[in-house]
Amino acid sequence: MTERKTLTTAAGIPVSDNQTSLTAGERGPTLMQDHQLLDKLAHFNRERIPERVVHAKAAGAHGVLTVTNDISRYTKARLFSEVGKKTEMFGRFSTVAGEKGSADTVRDVRGFALKFYTEEGNWDLVGNNTPTFFIRDAMKFPDFIHTQKRVPQTNLRSPVMWWDFWAQVPEALHQVTILFSDRGIPAGIPYMNGYGSHTYSFINAQDERFWVKFHFKTQQGIKCMTQEEGDLMAGQDPDYHTGQLFEAIERGDYPKWTFYVQIMPEVEAETYRWNPFDLTKVWPHGDYPLYEVGVLELNRNPENYFAEVEQSAFSPANVVPGISFSPCKMLQARIFAYADAHRYRLGANYEALPINRPKVETHNYQRDGFMRFDGNAGPAVNYEPNTFGGPEADPAYAEPPLKISGDADRYEQKRGVDDDYIQPGILFRLMPLDEQERLIANIVGTLKDVPQTIQEKMVGHFTRADPAYGAGVAEGLGL
Ligand code: NDP
Repeated sequence: MTERKTLTTAAGIPVSDNQTSLTAGERGPTLMQDHQLLDKLAHFNRERIPERVVHAKAAGAHGVLTVTNDISRYTKARLFSEVGKKTEMFGRFSTVAGEKGSADTVRDVRGFALKFYTEEGNWDLVGNNTPTFFIRDAMKFPDFIHTQKRVPQTNLRSPVMWWDFWAQVPEALHQVTILFSDRGIPAGIPYMNGYGSHTYSFINAQDERFWVKFHFKTQQGIKCMTQEEGDLMAGQDPDYHTGQLFEAIERGDYPKWTFYVQIMPEVEAETYRWNPFDLTKVWPHGDYPLYEVGVLELNRNPENYFAEVEQSAFSPANVVPGISFSPCKMLQARIFAYADAHRYRLGANYEALPINRPKVETHNYQRDGFMRFDGNAGPAVNYEPNTFGGPEADPAYAEPPLKISGDADRYEQKRGVDDDYIQPGILFRLMPLDEQERLIANIVGTLKDVPQTIQEKMVGHFTRADPAYGAGVAEGLGL
């Protein structure tokens, strides 16, 4: 038997009794000087940190990315510098709308957030299990998320809010079609794909820029739950996906994904038939094939959920040399919003928490702030320019200039009247008949309780994507 250590307070003072409080006499009131009790209660009151507004419910695991193909001609990022190279990573997989204790097997998009601890700092790829999103301009984001959350008066979720919003925002149709398809309820985290979703960029050693999209295809195969199976499981085991991932890793059944990129030379963006920076669109595989890069494997469970999964903080702003941003308006806004959320949730020093801390040393002039629990850079100089040997920027890491021009205005980003309908139509037509029927039944399942004017507007959108899609929903609604 291992020798048990003496219990101490947080200040390290040995504790004589952790079961009974200090009272004046056997039946007397508790004494103010029982600081150990006060500290225990006070710390307990402070156990919760602000819940994420979105992606609150999640499971996480550690793993490794192994490079299987040479893409060094497209990117100088050192994590891709040679075949066989391994980079440690941490992944967090979440639902979007539900609160921290909500059920896993609901119809929702899944977050697919990856943090790669590279030798040039952390690369965070903060994606979803869908290649697209509901909106392409962040100005709509808080409104959209309000529709997915709770009605101000009743505190209930409401399909009326969802469909009211989607009926007026046809750019959502592609993502709505994916959400209500079979893939809207994965059978588990190992059984879904992950996508970087936005367009990012690669920069190679010759300073050439390529636009890229990232895909992680499950090696376990796509498996989904029907609405009925999901509903049943939500009652039987609300934490089903969380437990399933943990148990798979415990028994050595490590989930794997093949990592692919789509690559577009910089100049082609100007003439491509789709706006390649529109998050509601994919790049069809026929135009830009998937190029295999590596294998992602999850192989180690967290030791402590709060320290690793809850305190993990991902930001699309974290890109390493050789990987960079694109003009995607949603990505541009997320570069601000994610780090901002973590500063609020975890504090200004959140990147120094063990799960977020890069595996390389950091050198900068940031100092102080709440919970600065490392050495705060000791006596080192805290301003620049200085003549005392402080860290300095290296122009070798500068990106090639990106040509931008235009009149400042608020642009709708639409290419033609059918722009929002073509890709949802393609997706509908590639589904086998039985999947089309389940898609329509899933839509009707919530759209049936919505005012008729909204239903009619949605049927108009589905019809523009594909007449059979619209007719199926109209029939299901009895319109
Ligand atoms: P392809 O005809 O080359 O291949 C069809 C793709 O459809 C599959 O590869 C699969 O994506 C995806 N798919 C199948 N069922 C579903 C579903 N229920 N929900 C979401 N995706 C599904 O595809 P294209 O590239 O020509 O695109 C056709 C349509 O496929 C697009 O309009 C888009 O809706 C969808 N799609 C395209 C992706 C892309 O990056 N091109 C990615 C995902 C979906 P996967 O291989 O990723 O599993």
